[in-house]
Amino acid sequence: MVISKRIVLHFPQRLVDRPIVSRLVRDYNLEFNILKASVTPEEEGLMVLELTGEQEDYDKGINYLTKTGVRIQSLSQDVIRNEERCTHCGACITICPTGAFEVDPITRLVNFHDEKCLACGLCIKACPPRAMEVHF
Ligand code: SF4
Ligand code: SF4
Repeated sequence: MVISKRIVLHFPQRLVDRPIVSRLVRDYNLEFNILKASVTPEEEGLMVLELTGEQEDYDKGINYLTKTGVRIQSLSQDVIRNEERCTHCGACITICPTGAFEVDPITRLVNFHDEKCLACGLCIKACPPRAMEVHF
């Protein structure tokens, strides 16, 4: 059975330049589509991938990634903003790899465009009043 999943890969600094993802094609018969790639302020690599292939190959590919030290997160969760807690401080703006936050030029309030959110979770720790919440 062919499956297709969207996942977030977190690469520690020592792995950022290694050709890890290309081995998923060569050794595990998987196809991938990079939806987003960036380096966080802590120099961790972050890549949002859509991975497609046979379930068995997919499981082996994920196992390989985990063994190399890549942290994998699925995107089945939902990140929302608790509007009552948000102080519009703006700390989330540069953290978000997909640009889901922006300052309204008139009101100076920080808007959250949840349709852009890929649920990577980076804003959750970065938000001082803990306004960003993950819902499973
Ligand atoms: S970091 Fe938190 S409090 Fe600050 S603007 Fe973003 S969601 Fe609001
Ligand atoms: S979880 Fe937060 S940082 Fe990640 S994409 Fe969504 S809004 Fe941006």
